[in-house]
Amino acid sequence: MREPGQIRTSVVVVGGGPVGLGLAAALGTARIPTVLVERSHEVSAIPKGQNLTARSLEHFYFWDCADQLRAARLLPPGFPIGGITAYESLASQYWYAPPGRETVGDFYFQRAERLPQYLTETVLRNRVAALDCVTGMFGWSATDVCLGDDHVRVTAVADTGQAREIRAAFVVGCDGVRSLVRDQAGITSTGTDLGQRMVLAVFRSDALNRGLERFPSRTTYRVLHPEQRGYWRFFGRVDPAQTWFFHAPVPADATATTLDIHAIVEQAAGFAVGCEFEYVGLWDMRVDIADTYRHGRAFLAGDAAHSHPPYGAHGLNTGLEDAVNLGWKLAAVLRGWAPQRLLDSYPAERRPIAAETAQAIIDGIEADRAFLERYSPSGDLGEFERAWGGRTTGETPTASYEPHYEGSPIVSGPAGSRCSIRGQHAVEARAGHHLAPALLSSGHNVFSELGRDYTLIALTADVAPVAAFQRAADAMTMPLHVIVDTADGGRAAYQRRFILVRPDQHVAWAADQPPADPADLLRRAAGRAAR
Ligand SMILES: Cc1cc2nc3c(=O)[nH]c(=O)nc-3n(C[C@H](O)[C@H](O)[C@H](O)COP(=O)(O)OP(=O)(O)OC[C@H]3O[C@@H](n4cnc5c(N)ncnc54)[C@H](O)[C@@H]3O)c2cc1C
Repeated sequence: MREPGQIRTSVVVVGGGPVGLGLAAALGTARIPTVLVERSHEVSAIPKGQNLTARSLEHFYFWDCADQLRAARLLPPGFPIGGITAYESLASQYWYAPPGRETVGDFYFQRAERLPQYLTETVLRNRVAALDCVTGMFGWSATDVCLGDDHVRVTAVADTGQAREIRAAFVVGCDGVRSLVRDQAGITSTGTDLGQRMVLAVFRSDALNRGLERFPSRTTYRVLHPEQRGYWRFFGRVDPAQTWFFHAPVPADATATTLDIHAIVEQAAGFAVGCEFEYVGLWDMRVDIADTYRHGRAFLAGDAAHSHPPYGAHGLNTGLEDAVNLGWKLAAVLRGWAPQRLLDSYPAERRPIAAETAQAIIDGIEADRAFLERYSPSGDLGEFERAWGGRTTGETPTASYEPHYEGSPIVSGPAGSRCSIRGQHAVEARAGHHLAPALLSSGHNVFSELGRDYTLIALTADVAPVAAFQRAADAMTMPLHVIVDTADGGRAAYQRRFILVRPDQHVAWAADQPPADPADLLRRAAGRAAR
């Protein structure tokens, strides 16, 4: 029975930052009744979380708001989203411009974008507001989460003091690093305090723009200084005119009022930088990974599940992928074609990705520290120059960062494999990996033809295996969209004639021959069979 004042829904999402909004968009597009509880009426004005990967843009495409996101950017279309790395300061003769994410662009259906997180959140807030199935409660704070065997109850309190209870099948904590949902679900996290205080500043400066004209046009500038022990002094372009975002290591006892932020910016620049500060704040470098992403009917996503230094632009992008991964699985369970066991694959797939990402960031800081301790132009100059030159060769971190789910219980990956960030981008269709885009003979990209649930791509004229898949799916009431085409043209690069694609565009299974028992394969893909 509904209690007075109680709201009933299928999923309650606590926290309407970018990840909570992304999850609400994913659930709302799947027509799952969702309540989003967000304490702030306004989005935060700090332009962090700016680099969105090509993969994240695919999410916006499937949430039907990629065009709105591109329209909201501040930089001109095609502005290079790469970085410059310099030694000691931006005035140094030692610098390089490593290849950016464009090196892996062909493996994704959308292009990467760069815009302040508050604009990304605004686009998502607008998208969510247009979805009938989503109720946004902005200006409400979740204060209590109660987990039952067959439902959850979340108490939300408005700015006015009014309280409402929301009853749902599932709750997802997208409520950031100090997650209430994590605490109340009894989920512990394992963290390391890196013992480094950081300053974050937003400022306007024409002089900085002018001083950087000697470099190829880029959006980010990292300074490696021997005294900073591998932590970057980092400049990020917010708009083409004069707004900058800056972070740098500072002493442990620094406060926003005592810190001479202007001097730190000028040391990092290496030249006089007249600037007008709009914001100065401090934070501590920490790594924290929740020990599990699920407890019963409660889940964690985004910073509530994992937080790490903002190096490599992983936090928001990883959080959005959490939202997509969990979103389709919750929808499948709530629509009845998958058992709750499917939801166990969410932590199994996503937690190793966050843990390895955090470790890779720490390893990168330590490698930079070791470099700065070992090499110096004031020591052996020739040795330094050879080592500095060596930093520009070899594989970039972007090229080898390819999160995949080969070891997932719902993926038919190679025996003994595991879910990992370490892979290689390839067009070949491989179980567990992201599907690369390809043109169909219709002239459309396969991404614009994929279904919102599972899709079978059959590059064959043989109709019998396709019919067998369809019968097996129908018997399980599992929605299955089918794309039939030839294996000619660019599609030959998939190297497989049958590809089962998940709702999140990862490959569940791929082979040249049809399976002996399609039902068996689909049962695994829907979480009905343990591997
Ligand atoms: C300096 C810096 C630079 C960064 N740069 C990048 C980058 O380039 N690329 C990238 O991918 N990531 C970047 N990040 C990381 C990125 O900003 C975060 O990962 C991202 O904000 C996480 O989103 P979220 O929705 O999980 O959490 P949050 O953004 O923290 O949102 C949580 C939301 O929950 C709400 N909330 C909390 N508790 C409650 C409650 N009890 N009831 C209701 N609402 C609640 C909060 O108001 C907030 O809106 C950067 C971070 C920093 C600090």
